[in-house]
Amino acid sequence: MSSEVRVRFAPSPTGYLHIGGARTALFNWLFVHHHGGKLVLRIEDTDTKRNTEEAAAAIYQGLEWLGINWDEGPHVGGNYGPYFQSQRTEIYERYLKKLQDAGHIFEDQGALRFRSPREHVIVDDLVCGKIDFDLTNPGTHPDMTVRRPDGSWIFHFVNVIDDIEMKISHVIRGEDHLSNTPKHIELYKALGATPPNFAHIPLILNRDGSKMSKRDEGASIATYIEQGYAPEAVRNYLCLLGWSPKDNREKIDIEEVVKLFELEKINRRNAAFDLDKCFWLNGQYIAQMPLDRFVELARPFLEKAKIDTSNENYTREVLSIVKEKIKLLKELPEWTSYFFTEEYEFDPAAVEKVFGKPEATSRLEALHHEFGNVAKWDWQTLETTLKSLAQKLGCKTGDLVHPARVATSGRSVGPSLYHMLEVMGKERVLKRFERAIAQLGAK
Ligand code: GLU
Repeated sequence: MSSEVRVRFAPSPTGYLHIGGARTALFNWLFVHHHGGKLVLRIEDTDTKRNTEEAAAAIYQGLEWLGINWDEGPHVGGNYGPYFQSQRTEIYERYLKKLQDAGHIFEDQGALRFRSPREHVIVDDLVCGKIDFDLTNPGTHPDMTVRRPDGSWIFHFVNVIDDIEMKISHVIRGEDHLSNTPKHIELYKALGATPPNFAHIPLILNRDGSKMSKRDEGASIATYIEQGYAPEAVRNYLCLLGWSPKDNREKIDIEEVVKLFELEKINRRNAAFDLDKCFWLNGQYIAQMPLDRFVELARPFLEKAKIDTSNENYTREVLSIVKEKIKLLKELPEWTSYFFTEEYEFDPAAVEKVFGKPEATSRLEALHHEFGNVAKWDWQTLETTLKSLAQKLGCKTGDLVHPARVATSGRSVGPSLYHMLEVMGKERVLKRFERAIAQLGAK
């Protein structure tokens, strides 16, 4: 491409980042990373009744979480600011004056309106193809308001001016804006500006075909953050909403998407949102990610649950054995809290089931004795020791495994017992056995 590629993500801050907005931002980001260029973040906050800084914060947080960085905009600045529409009114006044001087604006009950030239406008869209819009009928296409009687600006007007001022080369946005585009093109022409290239990306629908709304499950990026999805999994899923590598691959690295991404390859059909698939993909990411990354993602969830993670090595080992069990990071405290405190509770149902058997306590005592004498504290030795004791006592392996698990974790499910005991360490395990024998043994 000859001139510089400049794209923008232009959300209206509504208090959260919607999955559709995130996908639009991501496609802009992919485009810029594929071609080289700049991604501008522009906050379209002309609706002054909203607390824009706070609402914008949810957008920054969502984008940052997804790893969608912007080259110009809030926090980073740039040569075309300010990047909040609420701070650009002088620029809009200047453009309005230009249109007024050229006779394109008329007043109508206090509002200012743009007089349509009443023509056919061809939108040559990079995704949707060439579309002929007939704007000749004022009944169906009334002259558009650019400024309300209260002085506030209409979206179409300021959106176009900012795209001109910010030298945007490609407008990549949701298909819901396709029908606005001919009106925007009329404004570009009236201002003597060349319209940018347009690419309207398909809508995201629910599985039942209805348009996804704010209230639908999975609509807000904040939910994924809270639930503990891996950001790379959600980002991968968003890539597949309207784009695909065309070879049935679903888990695909972002670097590879960047390489393959072309606007022309975006699907014309609406994308069906499928939370189950996103959840599945997340499971794949968590299972396959390096332990370092898992630890990094896990830490805030442990800290939020007030789990003391100051022993880095121990935390890492604990996480390494529960990693394969975790589907969402918010499950982590449930899976790991008992590793980090001696005050873990005994689940009454597990106690009843396991220590309800009269031999459970004496078996645990025998296991305590054997474990006390092992030469090496690793899971293989622990397994062999436990199994040979079971043989000696003439009981099943499970008759030792279950009491040992309840004693050391308070519950009946968890990661592999031998690995769990290895990670906990000899001293802690023996102490826990003693506590359980004292506390549960009488039952
Ligand atoms: N503020 C508009 C929106 O959030 C931006 C549309 C556009 O990208 O031009 O829908």
